[in-house]
Amino acid sequence: MLKKIIIAIDGPAGSGKSTAAKNIAEKLGFTYLDTGAMYRAITFLALQKGIADDVNSVIELARKISLKLKFENGITRVFVDGIEVTEEIRKPEINSKVSDISKIPEVRAEMVKIQKRMGSEGNIIAEGRDVTTVVFPDADFKIFMTATLEERVRRRFKEFQEKNVQISFDEVKANLQMRDEIDSNRTVSPLKKADDALEFDNSKIGIEEELNILLDKIEEIRKKV
Ligand code: C5P
Repeated sequence: MLKKIIIAIDGPAGSGKSTAAKNIAEKLGFTYLDTGAMYRAITFLALQKGIADDVNSVIELARKISLKLKFENGITRVFVDGIEVTEEIRKPEINSKVSDISKIPEVRAEMVKIQKRMGSEGNIIAEGRDVTTVVFPDADFKIFMTATLEERVRRRFKEFQEKNVQISFDEVKANLQMRDEIDSNRTVSPLKKADDALEFDNSKIGIEEELNILLDKIEEIRKKV
């Protein structure tokens, strides 16, 4: 019987972490943990309550929020305090605020606690900004996913177009650049490549090809652990 493993993927917005993680989770029957969805959910609730600029209130919210993630038919359904916010958390107003909320150390501490608990069962694939460095530093397979800025913007812009969200290419680009900047330069658990992570630039690789490459590597790893 194969030993249970943890796979962790970090990388900037639009680098294709979610696509890779979902595909691998579906193929291997692993639990998929979208940590960004958790930071988005708390941002949503803080904005809805009108407390997003009050750090102490956001920390209090993080300590008592009830978060539930359900991976179903290729999408992560997100529930905060019992209410589904799956669509809402992907909106541009959340994108504009989420990096400010997620740089608060106490908010991160609460989210990391939940994420570690979810990982304790094993056979999980987690993606985010600090899952290879902080949440699962002992993961069996660590990936740092990247793509050029133009390619990442193109992907996100296409997603918005498909959902009929009115936003320009330049606005999407500005948001990605802003998030990259805040996420990479914050004091607590900034986005960075773990020393032992595989750097994977998928700017010019198709989804199917990427999946096959990663599945081959996972198979190798599972034989060894
Ligand atoms: O991955 P996604 O783009 O949904 O993440 C949204 C935001 O949540 C990121 O820009 C980042 O500010 C924050 N995040 C984080 N740590 C993670 C996952 C996401 O700070 N592990």
